[in-house]
Amino acid sequence: MSLLPLASTAQAGIGDQPPRRPGIEGKRYGMLVDLRKCIGCQACTVSCSVENLPPIGQFRTTVLQYEVTETPDAPSALINLPRLCNHCDEPPCVPVCPVQATFQRTDGIVLVDNERCVGCGYCVQACPYDARFINHETQTADKCTFCEHRLEVGLLPACVESCVGGARVIGDLNDPQSEISRRLETHKDEIRVLKPGMNTDPHVYYIGLPEAFVNEVDGQAGIRLIAKH
Ligand code: SF4
Ligand code: SF4
Repeated sequence: MSLLPLASTAQAGIGDQPPRRPGIEGKRYGMLVDLRKCIGCQACTVSCSVENLPPIGQFRTTVLQYEVTETPDAPSALINLPRLCNHCDEPPCVPVCPVQATFQRTDGIVLVDNERCVGCGYCVQACPYDARFINHETQTADKCTFCEHRLEVGLLPACVESCVGGARVIGDLNDPQSEISRRLETHKDEIRVLKPGMNTDPHVYYIGLPEAFVNEVDGQAGIRLIAKH
């Protein structure tokens, strides 16, 4: 694999996004997760692990299950919340990488060059979504790639293909006729992203995300994490 020349830290500047590298030309990928259709079966979690082979106990995507109670007397509701890298348009994980191992492609997909990564974990700390981890086997940063190796040959990501409820949709946001673009337009008043106040411009969108989850997905009064996977 050829290495791109490093920009000096001074040249890049703290907080600046380095230039994007080539991706699938003309596209900007995003994912829509319709929580009304997610049944919490973890088929996506399993198929992702089969496809991408993270170490046992580490996951690129998972579905957290929460019990939500609106008021003390109200019955509680179960919410299944699939989580993955948001492939943010302003990804804080990218500029903190001292060796430019983490980068964003022109099609929006954020990747890690594992031959360059030194495993410092800065990106893990910088991600507001807990989307990254240091792979126990490679000792380098790891996370969801939107299965870019599958997209490049016209296949869907493993999690999308295996989703029993059809809750996950991936597609090209630059194409107004793509299924994801049409669904985002149809449901534009219901679309939410996680932690919008972080100004990361996440490109994983949710339908049916309770307001209580938007900024405090890790738990607050009235939300109880039932099981962590
Ligand atoms: Fe980076 Fe985290 Fe955003 Fe993914 S979700 S692009 S790892 S900041
Ligand atoms: Fe960059 Fe790797 Fe350090 Fe993350 S762990 S900041 S990808 S060198």
